[in-house]
Amino acid sequence: MIFTDLDGTLLDHETYRWDKAKPALTLCKKLEIPLILASSKTRAEIDTLRFELGLSSPFISENGGGIFFPAESALEPPSDAVLFGEVWKWSLGRSYPELVAALREIRDELYWTIRGFSDMTVEEISALTGLDSERARLAAMREYDEPFIVSNRKEIHRERLIEAAEKRGLMITEGGRFYHLQGFHDKGQALDKLTRWFKTYYDPVKTVALGDGPNDFSMLKRVDYPVLVKSSRSYPELFMEIPSLMTTAETGPAGWNAAVSDILVGKWNRGEQENV
Ligand SMILES: [Mg+2]
Repeated sequence: MIFTDLDGTLLDHETYRWDKAKPALTLCKKLEIPLILASSKTRAEIDTLRFELGLSSPFISENGGGIFFPAESALEPPSDAVLFGEVWKWSLGRSYPELVAALREIRDELYWTIRGFSDMTVEEISALTGLDSERARLAAMREYDEPFIVSNRKEIHRERLIEAAEKRGLMITEGGRFYHLQGFHDKGQALDKLTRWFKTYYDPVKTVALGDGPNDFSMLKRVDYPVLVKSSRSYPELFMEIPSLMTTAETGPAGWNAAVSDILVGKWNRGEQENV
């Protein structure tokens, strides 16, 4: 099974393109290897991309908040999955209305100018993210995570924010552009749950995970083949924590393509695992 982050990993950080990963994507399809997209993006965003990529495997949305099983998948969805429109889902995160209500409470408690996605128009989200309006519309379809900004404060006391969230059984994560209010879940927990389910169909299962940022580390720690895709940041401490960690020589989809191709042809098993 291959688990992959999207932005900066399978998709180019700037252009969101994935054509450089095509050869390895084709190889995955030929070998019938489940390719699991795992992102902080929403179900609506990932579902659109999944369709473009021609994938029918389950996928992980909103940093592990939700796991979705497309209807056209060859495997029966798990018996405890819930039907949601045309897909089956497992919810690991807290519901969006709960998060929105909690963010309002936090705003009132701290007297800060906090604006969540639920307070914004699609145009505003589009301006803040750089996504075009159709993509911004899909990004606004939140289910397990509320992104927000804090304005009119020169110095943000993160501890106060974290404390206010924890009091409500929630946590704060920081992305490139927004803070996020969410339940205690991450991509790694979702990976574990899906891997256990796959093992009821296939055994043995070998796992690969690829990612380029801190919200991917929980996945990299849990798999047989962890791949850190090159980005503008480096994480030297991660190599101490994950001795088998591999890095790619190139960023984004080009690095993804090299790593996945090499793993699938067994190069890494032969000890040629320096930079791929
Ligand atoms: Mg990323």
